[in-house]
Formats: sequence, structure tokens, C-alpha cells
Amino acid sequence: MVKKRLLMVLGPTQIEEEILKKGATPQMYNRTGEFSKILERVNRNLQYLFQTKNPVFLLTCSGTGAMEAAVLNTLSKGDEVLAVNGGTFGRRWTEICKKHGVKVKEIKLKYGQPVDPKDIERELSRNRNIKAVLTTLNETSTGVLTDIKSIGAIVNSYPAILVVDGVSGVGVEEMPMDAWHCDVLLTSSQKAMALPPGLAFISFSKKALRLAEKAGLKTFYFDVFEYQKNWERNQTAFTPAIALIYQLDPRLQKIRKEGLASYRRKYARLTEMLRRGIKAIGLNTAGEKLSNCVTGIWSPDGIDASKVVERMQNNYHIYIAPSPGDLKTRLFRIGNFGDIKEKDISRMLSALKNTLSYFGFRAKPGSKAY
Ligand code: PLP
Repeated sequence: MVKKRLLMVLGPTQIEEEILKKGATPQMYNRTGEFSKILERVNRNLQYLFQTKNPVFLLTCSGTGAMEAAVLNTLSKGDEVLAVNGGTFGRRWTEICKKHGVKVKEIKLKYGQPVDPKDIERELSRNRNIKAVLTTLNETSTGVLTDIKSIGAIVNSYPAILVVDGVSGVGVEEMPMDAWHCDVLLTSSQKAMALPPGLAFISFSKKALRLAEKAGLKTFYFDVFEYQKNWERNQTAFTPAIALIYQLDPRLQKIRKEGLASYRRKYARLTEMLRRGIKAIGLNTAGEKLSNCVTGIWSPDGIDASKVVERMQNNYHIYIAPSPGDLKTRLFRIGNFGDIKEKDISRMLSALKNTLSYFGFRAKPGSKAY
């Protein structure tokens, strides 16, 4: 029997059958009161997810689109910003800003290292012209969690705004936008939200909107004021991805019913189980202050990590993530976002043990922590 495919990459994720089916609901005309009713509920539940009183806008794009929307709406050509580069996604802030003529000072971190909030404070006190601090809640390329709470407390006393890319964190990590003085928070549908890719969500504080009023960079599709106008009447500026909204609506209702704290605890438990199993096999995780749902694992000496990824896929139908660049042969990464259950983690650990043993690795005797 061919085993069912199991996605344990870093998004897209396993999606519950019940939510998948919602995507096949016949299309509705979106400029109707009936659709606005759905959007009204979605809007309230997105505010709950972000823990904010500010509107949360629905964008039809992936996470990078929302990152670009954050930059385009708040900055001007020649502005100075501070970006935390802890990996692929922190670096993306720099790439987007440079494309639009925004000057970036980077805090570049070593692989697997979290940013020290004191370094942000030092840069802000040195240069009062910094308009924005651009960060990543969970740097998905390493799984390192950023201390947004401490950074928010610092940035709040400066003119700069704090922008947080929460793509792989919002929902599965604590990230109360208002309480932590975050000025722009964004995420997308295909990771912690356990939905197909295609939607992104973004919210702006009043401080960020004041900057938006003066921002020199321009955008038509992502103009925050257009989104605001339409949000107020429970509509979207442009044709939304209706099928995805059919799926988003019940997902948000479920999270709200369960409660964010309980939703997070569920993933923390699964992550703990996964990491205990990894350790029991005799493997080491990579990086400090690891987030929920992303675990980087060093491949044993002499075993090519990319071959492990390949064999897991071909022989067990289990998809884990390779690593980019120099780490390709040394590190693989496992995501436990979405509809993952304990039995899936056991299946993955047992396949991993067999795969490594095929490549000559001897797992710790009797290792079966799963
Ligand atoms: N930011 C983070 C933290 C991510 O993990 C990702 C995707 O993996 C992105 C941004 C980019 O998102 P997308 O690929 O949806 O554009």
C-alpha cells in the first residue's frame, strides 16, 4: 500500500479534510451583503489572531507581497531603516528596501543566533533618523525566535516604527501586536494558519499610519488607505480569493473557539515530542532559542543532508525541508505546522531513523522516545 504523503516542510502544510473541502464551495458574488457578513466575521477574528484593535487587512498574495506592502506604505526613497538579518527572510527585508531605494543598516547574525535587543537600542540611539526596524518573528530558515516583546519596548520610545514579519509565527507563537508595541505585523496563510498559500494579512498601528500619510513610495494594489476604506464596509478593494476566504473563515473560528493559548500549547507539545525523538536518535538540533514548529537538525558526519531529504521523500512519502546554500549537505529542517498529529511525528521519526541507518548511521541503542 502506498502511504499517504506527509508534509513536514516549512509550509505549505497538512490541511484538515474539513477545511480542504470548504475550498470547493461554489463561488459567491463578493459585492453582496452575504459576502460582507463572512468578511465581517473574518475581520473580527483576524483582529483576535493579531491581538489588536487595529484593522487587519486581507491581501491576495503570498507573504513576500505583504512584506513589500509594509515597505511601500510606510517609507520613502532615501529613508534609513534597520533590518535584522538572521537568515533568508531577514535578508528579504534588505532586498525589498534596496529595490525601492531605502537605505538599510543590517544587523547580520550568525546562523542560528537570535538578535540581542540591546544591539537594536544601540543603533537607534546612534541614529535618530532610522524610520523603521524590520524584524522576523520566527526566522524560518533557522527556526530562531526573535524577542519581539523586548524589541517593541525599545522601539516604542523612538520615532521609528517596528515592523514584524510574522509569516511562520503568528498563531503558533505569542505575538500580541498592541501589547508588544508592534507597528506593522504581517503573516500569510500557508504556515501557522494551515491553509493553502495565496492570502496574506497585514495590520498597521496609528504610528505606522502617520508614516503612511507621508510615505514617498507609492503602490496602487497595496495602498493601505484603499484597504482601510473597504475594511470599514466589510469589503475588499479588489476581487479577493473567495475560495481561500471560505477556508480562512472556519479556520479562524476554530482558533478562536480553542483560544490562542491552547492552540500554541498544542504545537509546543508536538514540537517537544519531535525534539525529544530527535535527541533520542542521537541527533542534534541547530540554533538557539528555537521557535515552535521549525526544527533544524544537523545531519550526522559523513551523511549528506540533501540525500536524507530525498530518501525520506522517495521511500516514505515524507517531505522534510532541505537547507539553502552552504548548509545544503549539512542540515535538514522539519516543520510541524498545520494538521500534524502525534502519530505523524512518530511516523516521521521512525522513517528518519531508518533512513539514517540506510546511510550507515547507528541510532542510539533502544532509542524510541516517540
Ligand atoms: N517570511 C517568512 C518568515 C517566511 O517563512 C516566508 C516563507 O517561507 C516568507 C516571508 C515569504 O513568504 P512567501 O513565500 O509566502 O512569499
